[in-house]
Amino acid sequence: MKKLGFGLMRLPRLDAGDRSSVDIETLCRMADEFIENGFTYFDTAWMYCGFNSERAVKTALVERYPRDAFVLATKFHAAFAKESADVDRIFNEQLEKTGAGYFDRYLLHDLSLENYEKCEEFGAFETLLKRRDAGEIKRLGCSFHDTPEVLERVLTEHPELEFVQLQINYLDWESPAIRARECYEVATRHGVPVIVMEPVKGGTLAKMPESVEREMRSLHPDWSTASWAIRFAASLENVEIVLSGMSSLEQMRDNISFMKDFTPLSDGEVSLLLRAADELRKNPFIPCTGCAYCVDGCPQNIAIPKYFSLYNEEKRNGGDGGWSNQREYYDNLTRHYGAAGDCIGCEQCQNICPQHIRIVGKLKEIADYFGK
Ligand code: SF4
Ligand code: SF4
Repeated sequence: MKKLGFGLMRLPRLDAGDRSSVDIETLCRMADEFIENGFTYFDTAWMYCGFNSERAVKTALVERYPRDAFVLATKFHAAFAKESADVDRIFNEQLEKTGAGYFDRYLLHDLSLENYEKCEEFGAFETLLKRRDAGEIKRLGCSFHDTPEVLERVLTEHPELEFVQLQINYLDWESPAIRARECYEVATRHGVPVIVMEPVKGGTLAKMPESVEREMRSLHPDWSTASWAIRFAASLENVEIVLSGMSSLEQMRDNISFMKDFTPLSDGEVSLLLRAADELRKNPFIPCTGCAYCVDGCPQNIAIPKYFSLYNEEKRNGGDGGWSNQREYYDNLTRHYGAAGDCIGCEQCQNICPQHIRIVGKLKEIADYFGK
């Protein structure tokens, strides 16, 4: 199987302000081009695109291709379960939403210590193993957002997990918060193959400081900045698939151009990226990947990832508090969404954030900055 997977979390939209308004026509063209080029792996989840990604899969993929023409992965997130019966209920709804008949890969989604313990409490492993025995799941795994120590515990207690999905990119590789390299090494020690998510860190690594981009261009003038990030993840030996959350045909074509016949990075190219990561870490930075898990439950309808992205951009551009594009965008957004300063500190968003961002404090910082 080719190493590039189509992440279905940031699909093209008909209405930019509505995550669930998937542009099915564009998605069909993307799926066609992906498959025509020999790629087969599609990754969705229960709540992607405002709970609409799995339905989009049915229309764009399941109803248009033979079932064995693609590999479909989806996930169970413990945050949406209140009792054990919900594991089966959600699985049945996913079968109905996708019309797929079975899932090639099924993941316990976003395992942190808290979600892991909830999965244990609800008997999720046992329930899903029964589904696997019944042929409704071909391979069972998990996606993971916690420390290497917790991953060690999960893989030791559940040797039945056949793969693990990790956040790996060159910025997080040596990050003391994410510890991507150590997590990768735990999985490798357990003989468990890795699927990579967030290789471009929600678009953060698609644009680097000019000095870094100059160095990248001098080595490979025709490589996009984002492609360096995907190549980094795909170059790791124990990586089976690198997911890219593609939102447009252009992004897909760029990815296909180098992933069709992939060549791993050289040691020199990898060290350039690790130096670039050091450079980036010097800037003030909120490590938000734009997954939007935090948005649905916010009682104040605050556009958390949009504000984080604007604030990061502002800081990267050396914003001094005066007028800027970012400030303009921020003001526009607050006409439709709650402003950063409307946060009531209920912490609902923090409990679900896979990046463990202290969202309440960051929103206060943003309110102080943009609210002036
Ligand atoms: S803490 Fe603030 S941003 Fe988070 S869910 Fe509550 S109101 Fe929304
Ligand atoms: S704040 Fe956390 S949950 Fe919200 S979009 Fe960013 S990474 Fe995702």
